[in-house]
Amino acid sequence: MEFLRNLIAGVWTESCADSYSDLVNPATEEVVARYPAGASEDVDLAVAGAAVAQRSWAALPVEKRVREITEWARAIADQADALAWAEYLEMGRPPEVGRTAIIRAANAFETSAAQALTYEFESVIADGDGETRILRRPVGVVALIAPWNYPLAGVLSTLGPLLAAGNSVVIKPSEKSPLSAVRLLDRSPLPPGVVSLVLGDSRAGAPLVEHPDIGLVHFTGSVDTGRRVGASAGAALRRTILELGGKDPVIVDSDVDPVTTAAAVARGAFMNTGQLCTSMERIYVHSDIATRFVDELVQAAAQYRITESSSGSTELGPLIDQRQRNLVHEHVMDAVERGATVLTGGTVPEGPGFYYPATVLTNVDETMSVMTEETFGPVAPVKVVSTFEEALECAAKSHYGLGATVYTNNAEHAEAAATLPAGQIWINQWRGGGPNSIHEPAKNSGMGATGSHATYDAATRPTSVYRPTLRS
Ligand code: NAD
Repeated sequence: MEFLRNLIAGVWTESCADSYSDLVNPATEEVVARYPAGASEDVDLAVAGAAVAQRSWAALPVEKRVREITEWARAIADQADALAWAEYLEMGRPPEVGRTAIIRAANAFETSAAQALTYEFESVIADGDGETRILRRPVGVVALIAPWNYPLAGVLSTLGPLLAAGNSVVIKPSEKSPLSAVRLLDRSPLPPGVVSLVLGDSRAGAPLVEHPDIGLVHFTGSVDTGRRVGASAGAALRRTILELGGKDPVIVDSDVDPVTTAAAVARGAFMNTGQLCTSMERIYVHSDIATRFVDELVQAAAQYRITESSSGSTELGPLIDQRQRNLVHEHVMDAVERGATVLTGGTVPEGPGFYYPATVLTNVDETMSVMTEETFGPVAPVKVVSTFEEALECAAKSHYGLGATVYTNNAEHAEAAATLPAGQIWINQWRGGGPNSIHEPAKNSGMGATGSHATYDAATRPTSVYRPTLRS
């Protein structure tokens, strides 16, 4: 059995933690490795090594840093099969599906690092009777705390600007997905200590957030943990980015094609078994096309079949663990007890693996947890509305504000969609947008803008240097 280790100053190092836990493959329920619980001593060692490495990394010309990151990004794409297999072992995602996500994330890693070549690390302003230089310096050591739902893509989509700006990074992956992080860093060509790894749960995460030598905490995870991280980072006066959970709405207007839209909504609700922060978790459909749309959605759900995922043939992998499956089923049962109708799915399958079928519910309302709390599972609750305005009103009523999608052919409705309280709004295509986009979650879904230059702004600290003009 493999005992996973930390990467500290470029050396694979046994954890100081006093206990280890089983890493269980959610597709088979077999133990695939053991990981340490986490220890503040590990964090101290990792941050100390990262602080030393950061100084020489930041001293390199930006072109050299970008070149080294680019080489690594391309090597990651070449290793996508092996990395997708590690993700399958730890979180059950079918390797074929995982492979595509990793290649896309490696490309994003490369592209976002290359943006350093055009980012203004230094600018000069004529100021009164002199000039002010604005120098954007790296913040130092960044703590990158990640969830398990896209173990590598989540890390890679963030890492580029943090490193290219001249920071070193200590990664704390989720305790539910430590294996792929170990495999990723095993082949990192960057200088020792520029990227480090500490494993464990909150016993590694909390001391990392509180460590005095951390310049930025970049946290992705649930709202509850995000609140704790935000509170302790605030007490330590630490800059923090929080990317948290969501309960994204989708609006299906009266004038769209119900067949193609139902297929798109099925993908939005069931992709990655619904374990996506921007999954479509609340569906508001106009009454004019509701019957046809719901029929098509049920048919589309049938395409997301449960099979053994190691073959890569399944469309629907398992949920991450038994606890998560219980929560998803509780949301469905709560809805049924309050009057919802299950059109497909809604039962816990027999056999090994924490699978749950693609589920479509109708007759839902806002008294049900499936319409108010993040489900993070393959459940599509549909509410029929009489007008587009009613849909907008329902969509806006949530304490989450991560993303929102609207399908419409009406130009005024498309314009009105932009008023929804969300960090990312997509019209007629779920999760679109290029590498230059920036956003900040609304409401409880987080804080701090990210993407493109916004991540560079977060990864650097501006210093102004004023000098008056010399008079002769
Ligand atoms: P989680 O909050 O349980 O854990 C996230 C990370 O925080 C893990 O690495 C965990 O070990 C660590 N952690 C736990 N306690 C900590 C503490 N006290 N201090 C510091 N770190 C601590 O979340 P999860 O279950 O791993 O991930 C699922 C959640 O993440 C969902 O809510 C999902 O919506 C959200 N998510 C958000 C985004 C986004 O971009 N907004 C992306 C992916 C996932």
